Amino acid sequence: MKRKTHKVLGYDVDLLTFDEAVKQVLENIKNKQGMQIVTVNPEMIELADKSKVFSSILKNADMVVPDGSGIKLALKLQGIKQEQIPGIDLAHELIASCEIFNYPIALIGAKENVIQTTVKRLKSEFQGINISYYKNGYFSSSKEDEIIDSLAESEPKLVLVALGAPKQEIFITKCRKKMPESIFIGVGGSFDVWSGEVERAPEFFRIMGCEWLYRTIKQPERIKRIYKTLPMFLFKVIIEAARKNG
Ligand code: UDP
Repeated sequence: MKRKTHKVLGYDVDLLTFDEAVKQVLENIKNKQGMQIVTVNPEMIELADKSKVFSSILKNADMVVPDGSGIKLALKLQGIKQEQIPGIDLAHELIASCEIFNYPIALIGAKENVIQTTVKRLKSEFQGINISYYKNGYFSSSKEDEIIDSLAESEPKLVLVALGAPKQEIFITKCRKKMPESIFIGVGGSFDVWSGEVERAPEFFRIMGCEWLYRTIKQPERIKRIYKTLPMFLFKVIIEAARKNG
């Protein structure tokens, strides 16, 4: 597949629409070409600058979609118009497509009650859904190989991993060695939203690109994460844009 990308602070971000992203994934499933999709936000770019492992994962991902409005802004400052593609929406649409083709899906992550409710709710929303495997995200590293083996045996076409970044991306890299044909996407807190545990930001916040603000108001413990990374990210992207534009 020929990707059209643009760099944000040294990391490729795919330039595509929501529909093109879905189409590409379905094409890859059909061609048995596994992929790792990263739904990137400013925190993750900052993290990649501090972690070689995560930086390499981000650089080697098969698709990097701008989950955060900060990434969309960084591209805009460089004169690139790119829509925001929230990972939660992309994952939801991929589930809908997998239902149509009866592709098996696996879900890993979140607390036990959250994953249970997520599975129940997805089954009632998508009556034909084929969930081949699911597991909560609180397991010890000694159990990891066993979990990956069970996951691989269930032969899912699509695997949604909700362990938060970078844990989910690192876990995905390990899985891919045994499951080269599957599509993996790290979905952060999506199961918390789908299960009803956490409320999704109202449309107003989403349209304004301020979902992060709503989540911070609802979960004030997130402030620490944001203030540690966002100002530095913004500073760097402004400098990057000034260099490129000047
Ligand atoms: N989580 C998990 N195992 C862990 C750590 C986190 O399953 O060891 C889950 C957590 O329960 C939550 C998700 O990972 O459902 C992370 O959500 P967060 O809101 O931090 O992700 P974001 O959307 O910000 O990437």
